[in-house]
Amino acid sequence: MTPFEALGLDQPLLHAISDLGFENPSEVQEKAIPILLAKETDLVALAQTGTGKTAAFGFPLIQKIHVESRTTQGLILSPTRELCLQITNEIQLYSKYMKGLNTVAIYGGASISEQAKKIKKGAQIVVATPGRMKDMIGRGMVDISKIDYCILDEADEMLNMGFYEDIKDILSNTPQEKSTWLFSATMPKEVSSIAKKFMYKPHEITVGEKNTGATTVQHEHYVVGGRDRYPALKRLADANPGIFSVVFCRTKRDTQKVAEKLIEDGYNAGALHGDLSQNQRDLVMNAFRKKQIQMLVATDVAARGIDVDDITHVINYQLPDEIETYTHRSGRTGRAGKSGISMVIVTRSELRKIKAIEKKIKQDFIEKKIPTGIEICEIQLYHLTRSIKDTPINEEIEGYLPAINDVLKDVDREELIKKIVSVEFTRFYNYYSKTRDLNAAGSHSEGKERSGKGNYESTGDGSVRYFINVGERDGFDWMSLKDFLKENLGLDKEDIYKVDTKDSFSFFNTDDSLTPLVLEIFTDFKVDGRFINVEVSTKPGRGGKSKKRNRGRRDDRRGRGGSKGRNASNFKGGKNKSGKRKNKNRKGFV
Ligand code: AMP
Repeated sequence: MTPFEALGLDQPLLHAISDLGFENPSEVQEKAIPILLAKETDLVALAQTGTGKTAAFGFPLIQKIHVESRTTQGLILSPTRELCLQITNEIQLYSKYMKGLNTVAIYGGASISEQAKKIKKGAQIVVATPGRMKDMIGRGMVDISKIDYCILDEADEMLNMGFYEDIKDILSNTPQEKSTWLFSATMPKEVSSIAKKFMYKPHEITVGEKNTGATTVQHEHYVVGGRDRYPALKRLADANPGIFSVVFCRTKRDTQKVAEKLIEDGYNAGALHGDLSQNQRDLVMNAFRKKQIQMLVATDVAARGIDVDDITHVINYQLPDEIETYTHRSGRTGRAGKSGISMVIVTRSELRKIKAIEKKIKQDFIEKKIPTGIEICEIQLYHLTRSIKDTPINEEIEGYLPAINDVLKDVDREELIKKIVSVEFTRFYNYYSKTRDLNAAGSHSEGKERSGKGNYESTGDGSVRYFINVGERDGFDWMSLKDFLKENLGLDKEDIYKVDTKDSFSFFNTDDSLTPLVLEIFTDFKVDGRFINVEVSTKPGRGGKSKKRNRGRRDDRRGRGGSKGRNASNFKGGKNKSGKRKNKNRKGFV
């Protein structure tokens, strides 16, 4: 008896499982399948992506479907279109020997009438995203009033994405006596409240470790100065020549910017975020799957459901706000029994977040150093040598060999090797040989970070004071201005200090290492059509008048015109009619 047979699975499934080459059930499969096969029950399973959870609910669901009936019997809800398609694909693979079993995917961004047609032909299993499902129920295009099984996959993600109301509506169209199986990577209170509200005495299972036995994710962090995130990212990529990675940024704007910079710097990179059309996203994802893109720079929302098995590295360019999100990010690597590395680029002030994550994931981070320029050159050199050794010989060259030999007749073997390697290596060497160390001096125990001491005028205590052209007239007080700066700069509260608001302008300080970041973000920065101008102030302390100097700032800009839009005097965006700020949590003023 095979291990899958022992779980109670029938022949058509066992046949498909053997085609897929699955040898042993994963932990979640071992725990869930026998329960779900044995009786009609609700189930709550705490399991991450990559644990084999699709099969954990897919196998029993497939076995329980009555293929002779065309009625929709199983509904699987998933947060994203990508995941919806992946689940559909997996279910179709698992059920390939179940003649007459139809699984149909319904999701936004594709023709609704095409999807309705497929449903009409008879789909015993429907895999859907909540928005499209609700839409189709409303239009009478799908009937889920007779389903026996409803599966909520990645329930925490669905709730994160604001699908609570949609899920509630969808469930109200299903029969009370169905079984509900909920899968979630985390169990925030919103998920447990769904379980309480919509499920009856669910069986609970928790899967500790990820996937089929051998999977491991190593967590590493690299402490750098605030302005060194990008060069650090490049070094991490260069130090891992075969990298196939997802790089997570916090905002769409950063995602786009980092991807553009990487492309400009010659990396195979692409951006994935919500401002792209579905078509653009599909193109990026296809290129990523084909590994034409090695570094996929993504926001958390856009990256949900990415199911690509070979991701070698997840790079947290910035840490997420929620610790839970880190779990989702790192779960993109180390899938399907492979190992992976999750790297976090942090500033000294973010180190306490690492501690909080360690507690949450019950795993320690390894503090690593960003490789020096010379170390990268070495890595690249050996990588290059190995690739030359492994390059298959193109036999077409044969005919040209006499002529080639003739050209090279005076070059001995050693010299020839040096020359071949130099073709590629010199590019790296020229770039890296004289670069500085990016590692911040401060770490867990050391003193203040000083690595980023740049060309900016420091107040003498390692901090820089800035002038900003908004003030109380725009509805700011020191606290709200700090919030505004914090969010737009992607910094922590404590990174911004000595905020002092005047009538039409204000001042604030950051550590000098953050000055390039501050000036870069506030270059051509507009809110409500008004340019927000931030400049280094020459007065060190609180208050004082700015001479509005901004050393080194405009030089960084690439062909973006001069200092346009400086006089935005009728700006009133910060206030509503009563002169109060409209919304505390916004990034802009409106
Ligand atoms: P999932 O957690 O459902 O996204 O599954 C992650 C990957 O593991 C998918 O590519 C599955 O095809 C694969 N997988 C699922 N179960 C097994 C198993 N028992 N053995 C090997 N691979 C599996």
